[in-house]
Amino acid sequence: MRDHAHRAYRDVAVALTWVATDPKTQTPKRMNELGPWWQAVAGTETSSGRYTPCDIEGDAHRSYPKGRCGACRADELAADDHTPTPAPAPIPAAYAGGANLVRQAAGLPIKEHA
Ligand SMILES: [Zn+2]
Repeated sequence: MRDHAHRAYRDVAVALTWVATDPKTQTPKRMNELGPWWQAVAGTETSSGRYTPCDIEGDAHRSYPKGRCGACRADELAADDHTPTPAPAPIPAAYAGGANLVRQAAGLPIKEHA
């Protein structure tokens, strides 16, 4: 995280959420790459109209493109933590892994997913 000391906390949080909820992510260090997550960060600064924002109300959602909304993903993760899912999610292991990456980065205890 030291690499991002010059960035706003919010920007790092947005990028980390993007990276952590992407099933392809293996390690939080992926955030250090120049990936689309930094475009998501740029989207929080300006409404340049480069993409259609998420339909859900709230700054967190509006800063993400519709259909690739990190806030929606975060909501899904939060819901997944508290309510048992009747049908298995498409890639629950990847989501749980992403959530744990966030917890790890935030210094929170890792949750085992049943
Ligand atoms: Zn959303």
